[in-house]
Amino acid sequence: MINLHPLYSSSSGNLFHIQTQKSNILIDAGVSYKAINEGLKSIDKEITDINAVLITHEHIDHIKGLPLLCRKNDIPIYACGKTAEYIENELNERNIKNNVFKLEYGQAYKIKDVEFTPFQTSHDAIMPCGYRIKSGDITLAFATDLGYVSDEVYDNLKNSDFVVIESNYDTTMLDFGKYPYPVKYRIKGNLGHLSNEDSAYTISRLAKNGQTNFLLAHLSTNNNTNDLVLNTLQDVLKRNEIDTSLLNINIASKELSNEEYFIC
Ligand SMILES: [Zn+2]
Ligand SMILES: [Zn+2]
Repeated sequence: MINLHPLYSSSSGNLFHIQTQKSNILIDAGVSYKAINEGLKSIDKEITDINAVLITHEHIDHIKGLPLLCRKNDIPIYACGKTAEYIENELNERNIKNNVFKLEYGQAYKIKDVEFTPFQTSHDAIMPCGYRIKSGDITLAFATDLGYVSDEVYDNLKNSDFVVIESNYDTTMLDFGKYPYPVKYRIKGNLGHLSNEDSAYTISRLAKNGQTNFLLAHLSTNNNTNDLVLNTLQDVLKRNEIDTSLLNINIASKELSNEEYFIC
């Protein structure tokens, strides 16, 4: 059993909570420490319940709350090699005691009843990753902040019971929006983010493989809306002749949400 709470998810800040029988784990800590506590309170948890924080990469919308979290608590932080070194240095420079562990892509690690494996994503960060998380016979695959879905990413999403995947931007909204050209170029590039089409196409492939549970996450604050995500998804699924009545697809809220996904 895995209980998933997408407490905050957008290009402005990310915090996911995962509960299993024996553990409470956060993925990312990209909102203020105050907001982390508010998020946990909304699901009747406290920061002292947390056994570990898994970090995907060092962008501020994923680590904003880490310094205060580490200053006030002794919770182990996990991140891939060079990302872990970067976080450790940042904390050491501020004289914040920390407990940062270095992960390797493709290696499985254990925290109580949870096994997790980081996998490489393509993003303009030091050593970005997604996570494949297993508890009992349930697997959750998590991938936000990636420019494209590589074979490696796809293999890690494949055959999981629940997929969290980024659906970052609507191409037209981005193209005609007010971001400067280099920023648009970065977002659309292989080291940027997945568009609604990219994400819909990946969901089609996974649905053809028999997977049914998806959560679309990390929507851009300025270049996306829930309606645009759903319209694109419907188009792409229809084009690929997929029966949408069999699918369970949701969108993570940009604001604090205590929505719960019970994966069993
Ligand atoms: Zn991000
Ligand atoms: Zn990022």
